[in-house]
Amino acid sequence: MTCKEVVLQFLMDYLARELPPAIEAEFELHIAQCPSCVGYLQSYKDTVALGRGVAAADEEAEVPAELVAAVLSLSRA
Ligand SMILES: [Zn+2]
Repeated sequence: MTCKEVVLQFLMDYLARELPPAIEAEFELHIAQCPSCVGYLQSYKDTVALGRGVAAADEEAEVPAELVAAVLSLSRA
């Protein structure tokens, strides 16, 4: 399994727990030895969590400064 497959093909299904067990095992094997995919997975999860945090307005989410900067630069464009 390559990084591209992990990120583009399997990540969504993995998070939705919809991967067939054999593929899921391969996915986890790759993740276990690939820091860049772990980083991508983590930032993806953080983005999803942030989206949920915004929806729940009473919950104070901790937003990374660089993400705030990115959002601000987007809204200015
Ligand atoms: Zn990888």
